[in-house]
Amino acid sequence: MSAVERILSAANLFARLELAVELVDVATVRSHYRRLALAVHPDKCSDAKAKDAFQALSEAFEKLSSEVGQKQCLKEAGIFQGKARQAQRPQPQDDTKAHWWDTKTWEEFEERLRHRQRAEEALTRQYSSGLRARFATFKVRNYVKAAERAVEHLDRQKELPESPLWPPESTQAARDLEEEVAKARQTEPWPGAANELLPDYQERAELNDAALAIQRLLELMTHLRTVHLYCIYCGCTYDSPADMDRNCPGITEEEHDEAKSFGVRTSEETCVEAHVPDEGEDPLEAYMATINAELPKQKKRRR
Ligand SMILES: [Zn+2]
Repeated sequence: MSAVERILSAANLFARLELAVELVDVATVRSHYRRLALAVHPDKCSDAKAKDAFQALSEAFEKLSSEVGQKQCLKEAGIFQGKARQAQRPQPQDDTKAHWWDTKTWEEFEERLRHRQRAEEALTRQYSSGLRARFATFKVRNYVKAAERAVEHLDRQKELPESPLWPPESTQAARDLEEEVAKARQTEPWPGAANELLPDYQERAELNDAALAIQRLLELMTHLRTVHLYCIYCGCTYDSPADMDRNCPGITEEEHDEAKSFGVRTSEETCVEAHVPDEGEDPLEAYMATINAELPKQKKRRR
């Protein structure tokens, strides 16, 4: 059986990457992904289904490239076996969606994969160390929300379809739910009862899990930096990957702060400010501002 067939007929996400269904070291997931990607990348493989296989492989990688993602998959496989198996079957390729792994050439793909690895290492370094973890969770939450808004804004500009990376309240599912709640209001047993059906988009309880929030931030930043050449800390869109490498000081907020305080930062003339609409003043952010006062100066470039 060819690699393309093996991936497309795999029983679950782990099998697509030729991994046993158990927690695996992230480096192992990455090396399996790279090896299989080389075998089925449309630039390297002439099989008519290469693109579908590469897509299915990349989706499995995106999900399993973190411990949180792996745990989620293992849980789904255990509790909702039937459902999970159905959900994990590769879906027909949607050509209109832009993913960081969609590139014309293998070289560009490899560069993006390397970029993603660097981003992952940098984010882990910056946010996962024990002492700062509690404080970091607040910050990561806010960056996730800002990055989600930026993705929606830039995707819309390019007329890309709705994506799971957009703020949850901006999706069709949210609009459907709102409609449902509006209907429920007409027959609610007590005033405000229907509101309980609405999720609290401000609260976003899932982001309280630091590992999950960091993973989401990584996915968002990978999309912004590779598909849109946009840096959330610089607050702008670059002309080319080379331009970004030259002028953006790095992947993390820390690298931007250091560049600023040491005056390393080069010119911004190639950097096109992208005005991403901001949400209203967040009470949490106001509270954080008082804490931030004790820390090195924060950038609030988009305000
Ligand atoms: Zn930057």
